[in-house]
Amino acid sequence: MSYVDEVYERVVAKNPAEPEFHQAVKEFLESIRPVVDKHEEEYRKTALLERLTEPERQIRFRVPWVDDKGQVQVNTGYRVQFNSAIGPYKGGLRFHPSVYLGIIKFLGFEQIFKNSLTGLPIGGGKGGSDFDPKGKSDREVMAFCQSFMTELYRHIGADTDVPAGDIGVGGREIGFLYGQYKRITGLYEGVLTGKGLTYGGSLARTEATGYGLLYFTKELLKINGKDIKGMTAAVSGAGNVAIYAIQKAQQMGVKVLTCSDSTGWIYDPDGIDVATLQEVKEVHRARLTEYKAKRPNSVYHEGRGVWVTKTDLALPCATQNELTLDDAKTLVENGCIAVCEGANMPTTLDATEYLKSHGVIFGPAKAANAGGVATSALEMSQNSERLSWTFEEVDQKLQQIMINIVHNIDNAAREYGKEGDYAAGANIAGFLKVADAMQAQGIV
Ligand code: NDP
Repeated sequence: MSYVDEVYERVVAKNPAEPEFHQAVKEFLESIRPVVDKHEEEYRKTALLERLTEPERQIRFRVPWVDDKGQVQVNTGYRVQFNSAIGPYKGGLRFHPSVYLGIIKFLGFEQIFKNSLTGLPIGGGKGGSDFDPKGKSDREVMAFCQSFMTELYRHIGADTDVPAGDIGVGGREIGFLYGQYKRITGLYEGVLTGKGLTYGGSLARTEATGYGLLYFTKELLKINGKDIKGMTAAVSGAGNVAIYAIQKAQQMGVKVLTCSDSTGWIYDPDGIDVATLQEVKEVHRARLTEYKAKRPNSVYHEGRGVWVTKTDLALPCATQNELTLDDAKTLVENGCIAVCEGANMPTTLDATEYLKSHGVIFGPAKAANAGGVATSALEMSQNSERLSWTFEEVDQKLQQIMINIVHNIDNAAREYGKEGDYAAGANIAGFLKVADAMQAQGIV
């Protein structure tokens, strides 16, 4: 059996009942096969792939808090510090009822290679909780965040592990988490990113993942001889990534026809109105039915379904495995030319294969949504310098990082005979840097 297959079997056996983690590892290992074949003896001897797929540290903890009725609630908190070969652990915190160790491990594993692709010195980690902020009062969210940080603070630090936001963790949550960290430790340091602008946050961090996705998509289309201007797009999600992806798409002359949340989706023939979407989601934290009420021309559908819309581009920005094989078939039938992933692992493995084999340009999450973490790393730099850069300065650096990523993954794919397979290119380019650093640092 090949080394890659052995390692995959070992991962499945050692991490039972964690299908998302298996999926992320499988996708990664399959595409680095040509690199591993070239170095098999060395990698086997140093158990490089076994070390790479085993987190350096996994922390799981109790998070008790008191709700508004005086009832004590208990959630589970996680932080997986996956790999620190090229820098301090970096990756977001997700608060969603579906969170369990397997989700955090899949996200932490992907984060290693995404962070490597940014070209910045950041290792991979991820954390979160099965806490659901939806429907909770601000006081309840604060009580939860304070309890969560009361345990997490001892494991993180500006030079060791720097969490950020993800699903369910936005500016409000980061503020509560940061306040508690500072209160416990007495340190005013860049231990979290995505902070508010009055206390160490970076301009353009809020927009970075969505904007970065569009900078990436534009460049990817360009190297394939296509101009993004004048195209149409379907976007899923209505959160941080989706909102700023839609905004930047529109600035680039793309008409975005859809968005979605966990209960339904919107088709707006006039193009999604970002100001309305922000009011509904960022201010009122309401359902998309409120968007429909404010935009009578739009259509609201219950359940999932954005991918039935005929568009040139598909930009999944909600959650994992939200674009299935059936959706991929519909997209191909409707003439979609590119799928670029704003969310993490939103496309199932069979759907990814189908899209690639039918000539759809596929921009994988690791590369396409790396703008968020890249800008988080820029926030860390500003915190260390005790300086704030302008919006334009940060945005300029973000654009350059995304353009570099496109060319790096394109080159890596070509070098290993996989021209046009950007998922393979992203895995290979991300892996090579981490592998080199791990080998140089000995058996640790
Ligand atoms: P948000 O919580 O701001 O928004 C998530 C959106 O997706 C919401 O509209 C939510 O619906 C919807 N959603 C969440 N879970 C589901 C589900 N199970 N089924 C259907 N819809 C769902 O999160 P972000 O925008 O920050 O994150 C979106 C994706 O992007 C995630 O995969 C995340 O890992 C990834 N990502 C985020 C980065 C960031 O900087 N924030 C960086 C890189 C990747 P509802 O409104 O009903 O809650």
